[in-house]
Amino acid sequence: MDYHFQCTLCGDELDPRTTRYVCPKHGDDGILDTILDYKAIAAKTSPQKISDARDFSIWRYADLLPLDDATKFAPPLAVGWTPLYRARTIGAQLGLSNLYIKDDGRNPTASFKDRASAFVVAKARALGVEIITTASTGNAGAALAGLAAAAQMPTVIFVPETAPQAKIAQLLIFGSRVMLVTGNYDQAFDLCLAASKEFGWYCRNTAYNPYTVEGKKTASIEICEQMSAVSGQRSAVWSAPDRIFVSVGDGNIISGLWKGLRDLAALGWIDQMPKLMGVQADGSAACYNAWKAGTEKITPVGATTLADSISADIPRDGVRAVRAVRETGGAYLTVSDDEILAAIRDLARAEAVFAEPAGAAAYAGLIKAVKQGLVKSDETMVCLITGSGLKDIKSAMRVAGEGTRIEPTLEAVRKAIG
Ligand SMILES: *Cc1c(COP(=O)(O)O)cnc(C)c1O
Repeated sequence: MDYHFQCTLCGDELDPRTTRYVCPKHGDDGILDTILDYKAIAAKTSPQKISDARDFSIWRYADLLPLDDATKFAPPLAVGWTPLYRARTIGAQLGLSNLYIKDDGRNPTASFKDRASAFVVAKARALGVEIITTASTGNAGAALAGLAAAAQMPTVIFVPETAPQAKIAQLLIFGSRVMLVTGNYDQAFDLCLAASKEFGWYCRNTAYNPYTVEGKKTASIEICEQMSAVSGQRSAVWSAPDRIFVSVGDGNIISGLWKGLRDLAALGWIDQMPKLMGVQADGSAACYNAWKAGTEKITPVGATTLADSISADIPRDGVRAVRAVRETGGAYLTVSDDEILAAIRDLARAEAVFAEPAGAAAYAGLIKAVKQGLVKSDETMVCLITGSGLKDIKSAMRVAGEGTRIEPTLEAVRKAIG
């Protein structure tokens, strides 16, 4: 399929054969959108055709992705088609009759980032590059390490040395060259960029590589297809939810969700545009601040939150992330670290979905939106859980409570439950 890039800042159109990452006019800030040929897509496929596909992964949407022969280059790990649960217990607690939870912690390396890394690795294979690099708070790196291992490609990953141990373990076990940066994510990001330029490595850095958002868009496409399955309808149009709640750090996930929805809207495959609800930690709220101030200008913050995956001084996809919320008529919300921790526990006990802090933040934001009267009780809403709780058990243990230490006798059990 023919496609081209368009700069999100100046609208200039660029040729993917000559432009690899960003708009030359705007340097590293010139994040690119991918403009697809919707006529060609519509001629090739349809919602009914996709719904008949037996491939239960992101590659069922290959015809909507800017990569020819996608299945030939796709790394052989099952990414996507994560479960969408009807959240009856939480729904009853919050008075919401149509609430769903999508558990993207169920991806192969246990986070949403597998969607982007799978597509970037496929793209890297098609381009014939040798080494892939990325900066990461942990999950993007773990996803790249895993997907690249599946394709037998070497990687160099830059993470803050303070990243949760489980995420560093993933990088190491998949065989990446791991750079533990004595600095924060933003410093790791800039260092990775510089290293990729210096050594000629293919750079997956979030948003800087235009294909991360294309991989991530599969989640909102999946939501619309799965919602249609829920409603039992099998028609030419999928049913989009009224709202999607998602946590925001760099702003690339929310931009990806928006891109998927814009693709579906342009194709006429959804009946409405969902309102995107972005949730940030109050200690890392650059997108929220810009949205609140009614500007697209992102002012850097000194990020502090225990939700490491959404801790970013400068959201690399901030402009698009603010637009995604404003243009869909959604809202940004902020939540405290205490609210995030409580959300991990409450979500696990109510719906048995165990989220890492950044994943649970979306749920904490939903609770806040209900309290603030931002949502109606019968709206169809999806809360996207972006990462598994096993990624960061230290945080979970802060709210999990304690086990009872006993001697190995029935007597001790009787006493304990007494
Ligand atoms: C990366 C990540 C996010 C935030 O995505 P951005 O694109 O940085 O906004 C949220 N949750 C988890 C678990 C993540 O890994």
